[in-house]
Amino acid sequence: MSTRNIEKLLHPGTFNWVGNAFYTTSFIGKGNISHRRMDPFFAIGYNADIDFEAEEIPRGVGAHPHKGFETVTLAYKGKIAHKDSRGNHGVIGEGDVQWMTAGSGVLHQEYHEENWAKNGGTFQMVQMWMNLPAKDREVKPQYQDLLFDEMTRVNLENNGGFVNVIAGEYKGNKGKGTTFSPINLFNLYLNNGGKADFEFPNTYNTAFLVINGDVLVNGTENVSKDSFAMLENDNGDTFTLEATSDHTIILVMSGEPLNEPIAHYGPFVMNTQEQLKTAFEEFKAGKFGTL
Ligand code: MN
Repeated sequence: MSTRNIEKLLHPGTFNWVGNAFYTTSFIGKGNISHRRMDPFFAIGYNADIDFEAEEIPRGVGAHPHKGFETVTLAYKGKIAHKDSRGNHGVIGEGDVQWMTAGSGVLHQEYHEENWAKNGGTFQMVQMWMNLPAKDREVKPQYQDLLFDEMTRVNLENNGGFVNVIAGEYKGNKGKGTTFSPINLFNLYLNNGGKADFEFPNTYNTAFLVINGDVLVNGTENVSKDSFAMLENDNGDTFTLEATSDHTIILVMSGEPLNEPIAHYGPFVMNTQEQLKTAFEEFKAGKFGTL
């Protein structure tokens, strides 16, 4: 059992608007860490703290398609509303997660929640794209609302804080989120001095994003708010995260790579160019439903 250290530390680069609601920077793809290196985590869009004025008409992203993967939206500040062409809808707020399996194809809308928008405030969120195994790409779209209060919670020693298990397993405690390949996804809430240790197979692609506060990794390296740390593979299995400030929040991810061909165009992730073409034709033909 040896220690897994940081291989690459990223700070936010360019931010881009998604609709007029989300102002995100990307840690995977676009010249950063390759899609392959963090497989099955295909993309991570991070909206760092941004202040929105009060607005009567909620900001959002209008109806658009997805196929072949899952969008996992994590709210940290503010509230997000969602609606899709399969009749699913929901609202998530601080600490909640919305897990949409686009699978065979879906249209959805993502907005600031109406009442939250009327007051405005600080907004912070993450949207991850989880790739699906080839055999599950055409699954029926589904939707999981994973709320903060209902998540599997593991309290840490010495009143250090707790781990909310979104999906996967932390020290034998399973999260409620269902996944199509082995994925561990946790929100870690630490008090100053609070400490958590993690152990994943050393072939699993593993990283964390500091949502708030500062953290000491393996007792040696400091990582601060808004930074994304990808850990090395093969050398070690375990790592520790220790908060050096109060109200530290860290998103921890670790997943078994799918190691399958990737074909990507806009909102579609498939295995081949031919499948991408088909996806686009299905969308044009209205097969993803209406919204
Ligand atoms: Mn979307």
